[in-house]
Amino acid sequence: MDENNPMSSPDQWEADVERRYPSAKRSTQANPEYRNYQAEVRPTVREFYRLNHQYQTFDFVKQKRTQFLPLQRQRMSVWEAMEFLNTLVDDSDPDTELSQIEHLLQAAEAIRADGHPRWFILVGLIHDLGKILCLFGEPQWAVVGDTFPVGCAYSSTIVYHEFFRMNADWGHAVYSTECGIYERHAGLENIMMSWGHDEYLYHVTKAYLPIEAQYMIRYHSFYPGHRENAYTHLFSEQDQQLFEWVRKFNPYDLYSKSDERPDVESLRPFYMDLIDEFFPSELAW
Ligand code: FE
Ligand code: FE
Repeated sequence: MDENNPMSSPDQWEADVERRYPSAKRSTQANPEYRNYQAEVRPTVREFYRLNHQYQTFDFVKQKRTQFLPLQRQRMSVWEAMEFLNTLVDDSDPDTELSQIEHLLQAAEAIRADGHPRWFILVGLIHDLGKILCLFGEPQWAVVGDTFPVGCAYSSTIVYHEFFRMNADWGHAVYSTECGIYERHAGLENIMMSWGHDEYLYHVTKAYLPIEAQYMIRYHSFYPGHRENAYTHLFSEQDQQLFEWVRKFNPYDLYSKSDERPDVESLRPFYMDLIDEFFPSELAW
């Protein structure tokens, strides 16, 4: 394990979120495992949250946006990006963990099975492709983790909120106020979110997708917003409405993981057609 990457894979964070927000079925079983969330967080995941909260400052986000948002690193098709992401393996147990492609296909297949529109299935397929940031050498805390606005007070609903005391923006005259540098109800498009795979993929794909899909991609890790209903003082009317779609997507991300591995080769033709329907043969990453 290296200091900057305490988890064996970024998927440990997703597993932790699933434990924090157990599915209705699991929580009604009153499983004691789910009663005391914080006591049960793995030390590696706790350390990951500490790094994330300490280093995701307003200036850090600005710097990452300047570094990555020109999208000049690589040109790749969506399927190539999926295969590239798949080279990211869990160093603890690569044999039992689902591969990245398998997670994407499971989410997409669950959405498809529920009869949702094709663009919604496509969101399931691509939603985590921004994690290729890990393969560009970015630390886990700058790729995954619950996201939140920067430049204003960190909501007390954010997991391990106490770690923000180590953040350079903590106590800042403006950034520590409720609205910070923003107007009340400024709308999320005017708010800078902590940097990670959501924001990056949103910029790569936004030109080709309906706005509902853009929201699902851009805010799927914004648990303080879509699960805790925090930050509504920054939301516009449109954000409130479109967050219904973000909430609709979330269960497919968290609860569609099953031990049954999707058959990548047999599913491939369907998904190649779906990709072609929306995207050009190459995207700028
Ligand atoms: Fe994700
Ligand atoms: Fe995911």
